[in-house]
Amino acid sequence: MPLPELLKSFEPHFLLSDEKLRDVVTHFRKEMEGGLSEYGKDVAMVPSFVTGVPDGSEEGTFLALDLGGTNLRVCEVRLFGEHKFEIKQQKYKVSDELKEGQARVLFDYIADSVDAFLTDIGSDISSNEPMHLGFTFSFPVEQTAIDAGKLLTWTKGFNAKNAIGHDVVKLLQDAFDKKHIHVRCSALVNDTVGTLLSRSYQSGPALIGAIFGTGTNGAYIDKTRTVTKLGEDKISEAEKGGEHAGEFMVVNTEWGAFDNGRHCLPISAFDNKLDRESINPRKQAFEKLVSGMYLGEIVRNILLHLIDSSVLFDGYSSDVLNTHYGFDAAFVSGIEGCKTSDEVKQLIIKVLGVNTKYITEGCTEVVQWACRVVAERACKLAGCAIAAVILHTGNDKVPEGEEDKGVDVGIDGSVAEFLPRFFDRVEEALVVVLGKEGSSRVKMGLAKDGSGVGAALTALQAKKAMDQRP
Ligand code: BGC
Ligand code: MG
Repeated sequence: MPLPELLKSFEPHFLLSDEKLRDVVTHFRKEMEGGLSEYGKDVAMVPSFVTGVPDGSEEGTFLALDLGGTNLRVCEVRLFGEHKFEIKQQKYKVSDELKEGQARVLFDYIADSVDAFLTDIGSDISSNEPMHLGFTFSFPVEQTAIDAGKLLTWTKGFNAKNAIGHDVVKLLQDAFDKKHIHVRCSALVNDTVGTLLSRSYQSGPALIGAIFGTGTNGAYIDKTRTVTKLGEDKISEAEKGGEHAGEFMVVNTEWGAFDNGRHCLPISAFDNKLDRESINPRKQAFEKLVSGMYLGEIVRNILLHLIDSSVLFDGYSSDVLNTHYGFDAAFVSGIEGCKTSDEVKQLIIKVLGVNTKYITEGCTEVVQWACRVVAERACKLAGCAIAAVILHTGNDKVPEGEEDKGVDVGIDGSVAEFLPRFFDRVEEALVVVLGKEGSSRVKMGLAKDGSGVGAALTALQAKKAMDQRP
């Protein structure tokens, strides 16, 4: 097949029609509803037991831990009120051995890192009161309280043994206690929940917190009563607890697992290869098309196919191209940001390590094409997820009898931050699904570092509830 036709033949899986976007959103809403009414669904719709969003007046000093992105981070967060905060933080590397070894060893390492951090910042933890810590643990957890939840499955390259089905707060607290580290893990938070809270703290009430980074996921505010799987007793209890009578609860959708059943996502042969070779095949179907951990790998699969078809680089590959996860989403962002074909060529040489003599005419355009279609699909699908939540909560229109305050969406993660035109492309999908008017109400913005501030805010909420208990 001549090259242009060959490339064209792949495009239906990547350049999604308006109809496809709407279809994805329809399925999305169904799976969200399923997860709200029943446990054990792929889109788990996890109640966070966070029943109010901050208003920016919150004050106090808390520890925060962030596990689940590229690094382990330990932070000391000072909330000053008036929407202001300050963070001291330290990053610690999580090796592949830790990610895939025994969970106990991983949690010991986390506890040791907190200990080292406290020593570094000269924190005084000799007082009687333990320091309160919010634990941002960015994996699917079935939460049963603000400070308890069992790991459902690992994602994003983690695969530590003897963790699934265990309470991750207990695993952490046991590690602290064993080492006599005077810290109390009082809140368990998903990074999306943290992003939502942090966005609200900084710039007023938000509806959605979303991550498009190593992984992808979103949290939003729903009526507690809509989470019917909680059952009447738990719903009533939650309704008593919150600041606004607990009428609302933050729900962590775990949308990364959307369409694991493969009913509507545009999954190509390149995606099937990625999935088959992953450590979690047939899981996180949506995430594998959208998040930063996978974008480079999809592009790699496409380029390899074109090389093997002798239409790219004269049929020659490179060590990087032959290596599983040989390059990551930064390459895709880099190519997308190139202004000239010479810039593209230089990146191909530098990152992919392809020999200059094989980069013949037209090669740079092919690489740009591959990066563009993969990025385009990721952004449009990201838009579908956001649109589905907006439709689910009825926020595509101004709620009756209310003034139009718009819909605020806080977004964090490397893909959102570094992929050129991410927000424009998401916006394009919103226009398709919600219409011009509906989409014009939506305000999206980068909400960086939700994991730290959000964890602190949740620890504060948990501590308040604890102090109020007789
Ligand atoms: C996890 C989510 C997390 C997201 C973004 C996904 O792999 O399942 O819990 O929020 O990554 O970090
Ligand atoms: Mg993160």
